[in-house]
Amino acid sequence: MEKVLYLTTTDDEGGLSRASLEALTGACELVAALGDATLTAGLIGADVQGAADAIAACGADKVLGAADAELATSRYSTDATAAAALIQAAEATVVIAPSGSRLNRCLPGVAQRVGGCIDTEVTALAADGGAPQVQRWYYRQRMVARLGREQRPWVLLVSPGVYPGWEGAAGSAAVEAVAVDLPATRTQVEGLEAATAGTQTIRPEADLLFVAGAGWGKKQQDGAAHVAEAEQIIKGFLDKASASLGSSKSLVEQSGEGQEVISFMSHMNQVGQTGSTPRHPKGLATCCHGEEPHVVGWRFINERRAVNLDANCGWAQGKADVLYVADAFEVMEELNKLL
Ligand SMILES: Cc1cc2nc3c(=O)[nH]c(=O)nc-3n(C[C@H](O)[C@H](O)[C@H](O)COP(=O)(O)OP(=O)(O)OC[C@H]3O[C@@H](n4cnc5c(N)ncnc54)[C@H](O)[C@@H]3O)c2cc1C
Repeated sequence: MEKVLYLTTTDDEGGLSRASLEALTGACELVAALGDATLTAGLIGADVQGAADAIAACGADKVLGAADAELATSRYSTDATAAAALIQAAEATVVIAPSGSRLNRCLPGVAQRVGGCIDTEVTALAADGGAPQVQRWYYRQRMVARLGREQRPWVLLVSPGVYPGWEGAAGSAAVEAVAVDLPATRTQVEGLEAATAGTQTIRPEADLLFVAGAGWGKKQQDGAAHVAEAEQIIKGFLDKASASLGSSKSLVEQSGEGQEVISFMSHMNQVGQTGSTPRHPKGLATCCHGEEPHVVGWRFINERRAVNLDANCGWAQGKADVLYVADAFEVMEELNKLL
């Protein structure tokens, strides 16, 4: 019988992030599919009672808590010690955790500490004859595999955007405190700073991915390029819609070609075969042609729309749900006004 541990950290307010609640849905569905498995919740944070109460109705037979002021923020040594203690206390055979910078960093080491194994970037959980299986993508998201493992505990980091966030009534949960022998620390966490100077443009939790393509920097109908205006329109939209900013390769490479560029755009924003494969419920591509090496990075964007002057661009070839054949400058300016 599998003993499934749902393992997560609390956020700054002591609650659970969207990705945490999504992983909980995955854990609940897996337990139901396995049949005779048990579910335990394991929470890490400064104070975990609020988070435990929020998921009181999730069906976990017990809630284990590793609570300490030192566990308020991400630090490898303390997070890894707490996670290993919870896995051992739960005698977990399968550990399901949300993928995010904090747990991605420590759980591979934790799997090693507890003699188990780990799979990251899991995109589905399933049961096959009472044994858990996971789905993962390979070769830049071109091939999908479903696999199981014998080794236990098996730690699984579930990608965000795969499951709907768990929704259930809050209640009052009895948290079993797990003693964690925290190591002496040298690292003091003083706060968080955005990776890019000025504008924070990459927002993995945003509902919308806004992609800017090279068209924003090209000569427009009046024969001139309008990069400063493009920058202002894009920045205005990102702020108003709280969208995440993606880019085509051509646009991020313009700086290397000595062209005028959008100042807050870097290679970190590039989506596609040689860029990232973000996960957002919706995507809007503007001034981007929609060529295959770019669109392959849209694999996990559920609803896709594009704005392009060219009715025969790549998005029209079955790659977008809706293509608006229009001038993106005009469309986005109007959209900003409406927002
Ligand atoms: C090995 C390899 C790997 C690659 N990896 C990636 C990758 O990871 N990511 C990636 O993006 N690309 C990648 N590419 C490049 C890819 O093939 C395309 O060259 C690139 O995506 C084109 O970028 P774009 O659509 O922004 O630019 P363009 O092809 O120049 O398209 C600009 C578009 O803007 C439109 N436009 C212009 N003005 C307006 C306006 N006012 N309103 C509306 N539309 C307008 C035009 O009609 C045009 O369709 C790769 C290529 C190779 C060979």
